[in-house]
Amino acid sequence: MSTLPHTILFDFDGTLAPNLDLPDMRRQVIELTRSCGVPDETWAGRFIVEIIDASRDWIRSSGKRGADDYFHEAHALIKAIELDAARTTVVFDWVPTLLESLRKQGIHSAIVTRNCDAAVRLTFPNLDDYVNGLFARDSTDFLKPDPRHFTSAMARTGASASATWIVSDGAMDMRTGAALGLCCIGVLTGSNTREQLIDAGAHKVLADASNLLL
Ligand SMILES: [Mg+2]
Repeated sequence: MSTLPHTILFDFDGTLAPNLDLPDMRRQVIELTRSCGVPDETWAGRFIVEIIDASRDWIRSSGKRGADDYFHEAHALIKAIELDAARTTVVFDWVPTLLESLRKQGIHSAIVTRNCDAAVRLTFPNLDDYVNGLFARDSTDFLKPDPRHFTSAMARTGASASATWIVSDGAMDMRTGAALGLCCIGVLTGSNTREQLIDAGAHKVLADASNLLL
């Protein structure tokens, strides 16, 4: 890690801003899903968006009506939770300084997040002044842990895997990054411990991303 990267991919919640309460969001989605009669084994062990996809497919294949209504209602629910949280959240105070310093050093950056575009922009209104791209849930064709969420961001900045870092509080991002051959930097401002991040493939774990290049 002695050479500077061409591009740094940043996760958003838990990395550049305080974390969303994802367990509570998942609980609310499960409550809605159960109310539509979807059996638990349809979605058990899945992430939130994947619970919605699998349950919509189950409703469709079971011949019941309302698959599309369920899908839209569930997405409206998670978006409302995200926007609600975003209204009272701001990025960590060191974020503008960090991103400005990367830009001055010619390092590209992008945000890759499962959060929605509007909520991220509400939390970080002038992000376009600082990063080369925002790849949010509703502005990307593939959602991480699908590696194409990362590679489409890298394509935007023209970065190779060996010249890209992923910085995230999420173990899932460490796994995806490691599988692609990126340098994986875990941060402790979110939902995982140092051990969990290292186990998932982090090459380095920092208290936060403020001193990334030191
Ligand atoms: Mg995160």
